[in-house]
Amino acid sequence: MRPRAKGSRQRPRKKRTGSRHRGTPNAPRRPGRARIAFSAFPEVDIVSDLAPPAHFIKNAIDEDLAAGRYRQVVTRFPPEPNGYLHFGHAKSIVLNFGLARLYGGRCHMRFDDTNPTTESMDYVEAILEAVRWLGYDWGEHLYFASDYFETMYRCAEALIERGLAYVDSLPPEEIRALRGTLTEPGRDSPYRNRSIEENLALFRRMRAGEFPDGAHVLRAKIDMASPNLNLRDPILYRIRHVSHYRTGNAWCLYPTYTYAHPIEDAIEGITHSLCTLEFEDQRPFYEWLLEALAEAGVFSRPLPRQIEFARLNLEYVVLSKRKLIQLVEERHVAGWDDPRLPTLAGGRRRGYTPEGFRLFCERIGVSKADGWIGYEVLEQAMRDHLNEAAERRIAVLDPLELVIDDFPEGHVEWCEAPNHPLDPERGKRRIPFTRRLWIERGDFMETPVKGFHRLTPGATVRLRYGYVIECTGCDKDESGRVVRVHARHFPDSKSGTPGADRYKTKGNCHWLSCDHAIEAEIRHYDRLFRHPRPGTEPGPDGAPRSFLEDLNPESLRCYRAFVEPDAAQVPPETRFQFERHGYFVADRYDHRPETPVFNLTVGLKDTWGKIQR
Ligand code: ATP
Ligand code: MG
Repeated sequence: MRPRAKGSRQRPRKKRTGSRHRGTPNAPRRPGRARIAFSAFPEVDIVSDLAPPAHFIKNAIDEDLAAGRYRQVVTRFPPEPNGYLHFGHAKSIVLNFGLARLYGGRCHMRFDDTNPTTESMDYVEAILEAVRWLGYDWGEHLYFASDYFETMYRCAEALIERGLAYVDSLPPEEIRALRGTLTEPGRDSPYRNRSIEENLALFRRMRAGEFPDGAHVLRAKIDMASPNLNLRDPILYRIRHVSHYRTGNAWCLYPTYTYAHPIEDAIEGITHSLCTLEFEDQRPFYEWLLEALAEAGVFSRPLPRQIEFARLNLEYVVLSKRKLIQLVEERHVAGWDDPRLPTLAGGRRRGYTPEGFRLFCERIGVSKADGWIGYEVLEQAMRDHLNEAAERRIAVLDPLELVIDDFPEGHVEWCEAPNHPLDPERGKRRIPFTRRLWIERGDFMETPVKGFHRLTPGATVRLRYGYVIECTGCDKDESGRVVRVHARHFPDSKSGTPGADRYKTKGNCHWLSCDHAIEAEIRHYDRLFRHPRPGTEPGPDGAPRSFLEDLNPESLRCYRAFVEPDAAQVPPETRFQFERHGYFVADRYDHRPETPVFNLTVGLKDTWGKIQR
């Protein structure tokens, strides 16, 4: 990756303002909404019955349709292929594709690839895969802005011919100096009044490659005294002798983002061009340009309408391609799909689901007020979906041996466990009960603290789906560490057999047969950053420190654990709730039935929030 060329896209800076949301902001819950129906495997019908709640963009579209301004709704999702998609993009994808679906219109998948130096086909493919994974289909409407270079060029000639654009030959520093400030008007360039013929001739020679980089630019001729800096003759074209990943060396003249984007929208007949708030000040130029081109007869009306909404700011992560690229390139994470990264590829590998993202987007809503969303809102959406979607299995993450001394050696007693407590139709599976079992180390305490209701000498507990046992003692090694727990069982207490519920116990523990359990690697992921807004605290010199200083050194812990055989024999990306622990996913790349690898998706409860509080 080469670094992004400065100023090459002329994208405005993001505003960092606003409040912070906890819980479920913006979106009022609609009464009587149907329970979300999900299938266990997301690839089926994941765009289910979630209708976007009312918000100001929907209202604007309703008004436009009622006024007869547009006949159908056409939106677009326009990423630049210079990085992987992140969770913020999910908000834009769900909004754009969701609205198109809601109004029976269409959403275009468009690569905004006008900047030749940072883009690549690898990114294009990764982006398409992520959008598809989220559950959206652009049908035949896949577009590349680079396919419009010729049209964009002709639009520029049309502007020149109408006296609405000129070639400026000032060096970039001087153009900047004449631009003025928020309080001072700009001043005209000495080249502003070139004749149309001279401008046309120069512009054609720029295209023909007769000038080096930076010799000339093409600027719109609007108003150097405008209070809106974006209207002070913005730059439309720059000379750049570089090769583009799709057009190769066909061009040495590249449009700026500001100029290209409205034209892309108009070419495709977009009706509602939804973008983030930092483009609000650009809207007057967006409208000026399309009006001018409509007047020139290049585009017909109705023209697209730009509407801005607040970008997603999510705590404990960074949602900026530049920072994500840095994390990947400097190897702070294992790659673009590292499960700790807030990329869609990372979220997928972590076990997050498309339905969870859709639910999250529905809950955070769409508004015009910039704000921060707590990470727990995303986690709760994932939990809520996984609670319905994921089957239950058993895993012992910190194993300690339990011997049922009165259980015959070599005997296997098969017990039954439901695959899903909320959905009996998903059936049951058999789990083997044997003399030697694995239990969680944390489920035994030789000297119990108050309120501890699990294994301790003399106590009875139920081994979930198995027998009630009474703990009789433990063995220790020389250092005093417990290495084995002993118990006896009540043969008539087997779960599901008549009379078994006579036994009342306070504690309920999960277990696995030592003879059958499969050893697995567990990758325990935690937040990548330990600060909710990475890079905002002051460093030693008073300036904000680097976001890298806020990396959480304990964001990944790997350990060996045991899972039931039924959990191991699954394809990659199968998701389970390991009872009492949380939701896990079989790693997309490393999981094998004989050497299982599970990633922690999210715990059963918001423990992080509790610790923070
Ligand atoms: P970044 O801000 O991470 O550098 P970008 O804006 O350069 O990303 P694009 O590929 O141009 O990334 O974005 C594609 C679309 O996604 C744009 O319409 C943009 O407005 C939207 N988008 C990007 N980031 C967010 C976000 N955090 N929340 C909502 N929408 C976003
Ligand atoms: Mg952006």
